[in-house]
Amino acid sequence: MINIAIDGPAGAGKSTVAKAVAKELGIIYLDTGAMYRATAYTAIKNGIDVSDEVGVGEMLKTLTMDVVYEDGAQQIIVNGFNTTPYLREHYMSKAASDISALPCVRYKLVDIQRELAKTYDLVLDGRDIGTFVLPDANCKIFLVASAEERAKRRVEENRLKGQESDFDIVLKDIKQRDYNDSHREVAPLKKADDAVELDTTTMTIPEVVEAVISLVKEKIK
Ligand code: C5P
Repeated sequence: MINIAIDGPAGAGKSTVAKAVAKELGIIYLDTGAMYRATAYTAIKNGIDVSDEVGVGEMLKTLTMDVVYEDGAQQIIVNGFNTTPYLREHYMSKAASDISALPCVRYKLVDIQRELAKTYDLVLDGRDIGTFVLPDANCKIFLVASAEERAKRRVEENRLKGQESDFDIVLKDIKQRDYNDSHREVAPLKKADDAVELDTTTMTIPEVVEAVISLVKEKIK
């Protein structure tokens, strides 16, 4: 199996790059962040606080999550319901970050990710793929960029979707998520020792994609 791990903080360009690499190699892209978002969405829908370990643990006992692809786009089906259209709301980022700190959530989702990685060739993006989910991945990349640049990109991304957002608020959210993600107890955001770090602050997306694809080809040739 080919498994390519692309980790890094929010807004470093992981999903754009992971999608392009998957397309180039003709393999599947797994957005693991969407799995945490879908879990948070389901908790909120059921009136469960995303930081309530007991409540979320109860919910997980019967929760089923299927990752399917429609016209190449990933869909996360939880308990038979397609959560995908609801995962990109602004408040879902913080909710996903909070719920992802709960060990019971991490263990459940990591099990699903490992099963998928055993079955399919994958490009996975996340925070802990190279360090925890798949320590033996064929190729590990850690994308970083300054918090200001990442906030600028997020504001622009929102603008293209027709949503106006305030730079200072987006920057504060990004810094808060960086802190949460790198300080949690289980599988925090961290570069794997054998990952190649790429600082994308002054790079364009096509430049990053090209650099990552050549690194991947070098590693899996
Ligand atoms: O990548 P995305 O912004 O969609 O991820 C949402 C949140 O899910 C992240 O802020 C992080 O807290 C969590 N996450 C994680 N581990 C992953 C992927 C995402 O903890 N592998």
